[in-house]
Amino acid sequence: MRGAPPGPRVLLRRLRDLMAEPGGAQERLDRIVVLIAANMVAEVCSVYLMRSHGELELFATEGLNPDAVHKSRLRVGKGLVGLIAATAEPLSLSDAQSHPSFAYLPETGEEIYQSFLGVPVLREGITIGVIVVQNRVQRAYSEEELEALQTIAMVLAEFVASGALDVDAAPDADIRHERAHHLKGMPLSDGVALGHAVLHEPRTEVTNLFAADPAIEIQRLDDALKQVRASVDSLIEKGDVAWAGEHREVLESYRMFAHDRGWVRRMQEAVQTGLTAEAAVERVHNDYRARFSRQATPFLRERLHDLDDLVNRLLRTLTGAAPPGQQEMPENAILVARSMGAAELLDYERSQIRGLVLEEGGATSHVAIVAKALGLASVGQLERTRDLVDTGDAIIVDGATGDVHIRPSPDVERAFADKVRFRAKRQAQYAKLRDLPAVTCDGLPISLMVNAGLLVELPTVMASGAEGIGLFRTELQFMVASTFPRMREQTELYGKVMKTVGDMPVTFRTLDIGGDKVLPYLKSAHEENPALGWRAIRLSLDRPGLLRTQIRALLHAAAGRDLSVMFPMITNAAEFEKAKGVIEREKRHLTRHGYALPREIAVGAMLEVPSILWDLDPLLESADFLSVGSNDLAQYLFACDRGNARVAERYDTLAPANLRALGAIVRRAVGRNVPVTLCGDMASRPLEAMALIGLGYESISLASSAIGPVKDMLRSLDAANLRAHMPDILNRGDETLRGALRAYADAHAIPV
Ligand code: PEP
Ligand code: MG
Repeated sequence: MRGAPPGPRVLLRRLRDLMAEPGGAQERLDRIVVLIAANMVAEVCSVYLMRSHGELELFATEGLNPDAVHKSRLRVGKGLVGLIAATAEPLSLSDAQSHPSFAYLPETGEEIYQSFLGVPVLREGITIGVIVVQNRVQRAYSEEELEALQTIAMVLAEFVASGALDVDAAPDADIRHERAHHLKGMPLSDGVALGHAVLHEPRTEVTNLFAADPAIEIQRLDDALKQVRASVDSLIEKGDVAWAGEHREVLESYRMFAHDRGWVRRMQEAVQTGLTAEAAVERVHNDYRARFSRQATPFLRERLHDLDDLVNRLLRTLTGAAPPGQQEMPENAILVARSMGAAELLDYERSQIRGLVLEEGGATSHVAIVAKALGLASVGQLERTRDLVDTGDAIIVDGATGDVHIRPSPDVERAFADKVRFRAKRQAQYAKLRDLPAVTCDGLPISLMVNAGLLVELPTVMASGAEGIGLFRTELQFMVASTFPRMREQTELYGKVMKTVGDMPVTFRTLDIGGDKVLPYLKSAHEENPALGWRAIRLSLDRPGLLRTQIRALLHAAAGRDLSVMFPMITNAAEFEKAKGVIEREKRHLTRHGYALPREIAVGAMLEVPSILWDLDPLLESADFLSVGSNDLAQYLFACDRGNARVAERYDTLAPANLRALGAIVRRAVGRNVPVTLCGDMASRPLEAMALIGLGYESISLASSAIGPVKDMLRSLDAANLRAHMPDILNRGDETLRGALRAYADAHAIPV
């Protein structure tokens, strides 16, 4: 019988001394198992480490047959050790042999040991090994013994990660740092980017494990917790959307963890064993991570992400590591993040980033909108990417298809490099068209405008060769702001837009919020059907303060020049009159107070709600121009949610019903001499744009990246010929006219 074991602090100190001793890593590991066995009063202590082929190999043992070292192997999931590796959970048994997973390995001679205590060796939540102690007699291991073994496991994890041992293929290295991975996510923003990953929130490495004075460490931990709590509280108070995505829910979850007594107590206990505050944070987090990641519910897995983020913040506070966005950027950086606020993305220097990969983030998230505006190849909805990639890893993002390749093979890299070269060549061809007129080959001029909404887009707009901005979505700048922009800020913004575009026309659309466009700082009640709910002009008319402020800002900004404004989602002519009334009122107000007014004010209506098609006469009487929002018009015409991928394929914008509706609008507007533009996404696709010209449209507003391809198409198009064929095409009786239109384009060598 050996003497009473020393306390965990003494053990940690001995472990530290032992690890600092000279000699080979294997030698030190051999001494470590002896030390642990002695400390835990166990006859056996063994360390198994993971090999690349998914097998656990016995790396060192005290008590088992030493000849079995580096020979004895277990598959993950097989035997008690394999079970611990698979579940990442500790296992404590007083009668190991009666456990269903017990596997007899004759070479180790372990059948004589009855009690078994094993814990996983975890690094960043991934099992890289298992430590086991065994006793001959039946006994129950205490909670303290389990805790002590877990702390040892953490120290061992650092030892393995330091590369001292020749675990050439620990899974950590294998899964995360070496193997190529191909992931498929949701395309967020077109473009192909080859570059190097930059973790938006890099993991904080804990290298300083041992502390001499627990009292100092407890104080450091308390101070850091206080700081983190205070910063989370202030973020919640400010309703700041610029940090960690837009979700208040996430911030609330941070707060919940930051105040969780059990969590804090466990970290304090870990400090008492002789760990530094940061090592204690990591040690407890390993445990939580292992437990949470086995939870089946997405809700709990989400909370694990929240805890990861909070721990990272705590570790940054403790170690003084650089906060996100301030790390060094490699060339051609591709940002990898769980989620990101739009403002955070804007904090990066645009010229340094090529692409964006998000674990969360849908197509309509604000960060996706900004990524698109910046022209960054972006993919979203790729769970656990951060577990697979490290800063500096080679990575490829295809924003058109949603493909992401981590540490791609040379073949894949070559294929994508070709793709990038091909795209660049095409861009160069389009660039040549930039200054050529947008005229069909039979001489019909087509007005090509662009859609924009953020200041960061303006340089691209100016470079696109477009005639002006046909749709400036004012709500985008509101969506990326953290508080409602005041009138002065709005005036400044609109003024900048007008100044940048100079003489080019620009049409401002008043706030189109609600539906899928949410302002986090604007409270709104939950709605069953937000797309059919309180949104756009409806909200503006019910909350006239918002609309008035915006109109006043626009009038101020356009003093002395032309102003063009349009209202979204007009449902009937009377609604348009009410909205126009706000402009009249503001004009009177400014005149009364001696302010200069715009030279000319054009007021237009967006046609996006089918009912307006049956109230066009009075609208055409009153509106200075019309703009067809074909995205929403098709959504309501076909009763198909534009953001729902499940129904996205159910209708085609080139279906006869849609084209007939669009044709009727343009005929009526032209008949009444009211200018009409179409500004939905279909105008950005050459085939659709061709159909629009065929229907009679002579002004379209598109994504700036589409100007080149659409101009290329129309310069080869004989508009009169297509218009003559259009009735035949429309009356073919096909479910979609895509085929017929493509056949027409092919027959006439029109690039679509
Ligand atoms: C549309 O609906 O077609 C449109 C241009 O507006 P948004 O896409 O901003 O709703
Ligand atoms: Mg719309």
